[in-house]
Amino acid sequence: MKPTTRGRVAFVGAGPGEADLITLRGAERLRAAEVVLFDSLSDPALRALAPDARWIDVGKRGLRRLPHVSSGGAEATEQAAINALLVEHAGHRGKRVVRLKGGDPSVFGRLEEELDALAAAGIESEVVPGVTAALAAAAAMQRPLTRRGSGRSVSLATAMTHDAGLVAGRHAETEVFYMAGKQLAALGRRLLAAGWPADTPALAVSRAGWPDELGSDHTVATLGDATVLHSGRPTVVTIGVGAAPLAGRTLGSDLAAGAAAAVERPAPVHRGRKIPA
Ligand code: SAH
Repeated sequence: MKPTTRGRVAFVGAGPGEADLITLRGAERLRAAEVVLFDSLSDPALRALAPDARWIDVGKRGLRRLPHVSSGGAEATEQAAINALLVEHAGHRGKRVVRLKGGDPSVFGRLEEELDALAAAGIESEVVPGVTAALAAAAAMQRPLTRRGSGRSVSLATAMTHDAGLVAGRHAETEVFYMAGKQLAALGRRLLAAGWPADTPALAVSRAGWPDELGSDHTVATLGDATVLHSGRPTVVTIGVGAAPLAGRTLGSDLAAGAAAAVERPAPVHRGRKIPA
């Protein structure tokens, strides 16, 4: 059955951390929203932009509280519930819906499934980009992802797969791995097996873009050492050229010191703690 109402959905990248990392366009869509579907990665302070909208938590915990989602568990069930909510609010109720996603919606955000569901229901949609975690981590630690002459390619990868367990390869001069937080030691082993030299720089950054962001330097061989420090926190791991400290800064040097004076607003890099490997 095709709904005939005027509702639409804007997928909005909330950015990786604090509320002010959202784009102006994303903030505008939030202000206009009647219903906001959000999950756990986005800053609760964003609520101030749409105080009168109905905010629905579709993170794992939030979904469990909704009457028609039976229990926690199968991701497919959870995704189907989110799809159904989008169609219900934008399609059947004709609302202006924002689907707020941490970071950028197009990067490991299950955007494909939700766009498909809207298209199938004939509902209009738009995607507003956001700052993805890889970029926030690079900014926080002042480690440019591309480097003139040596770092011409960057890959965004996830180590986790549905069927094959943990996988890692060597596809670019800089690779950023998402969703590997619990398996850093195993990721290090996979990277070695994929041909990365043992002393390749490996940078782990957790909660990038938040006041308590944390970065630590390792090598591919010692990546497992990052496990305890970043435990329980969303973490990206940058491998290769883009993980290396800039010239003149040794591994473990305090990156915050040099930059502190120049910036007006306390930048994440000072507030983050930098722990030597
Ligand atoms: N769409 C999001 C990614 C969602 S997948 C984006 O574009 O950033 C969730 C994974 O993203 C986490 O497991 C972690 O690897 C990474 N992540 C999300 N927020 C992060 C943050 N603030 N700091 C470091 N990694 C983060």
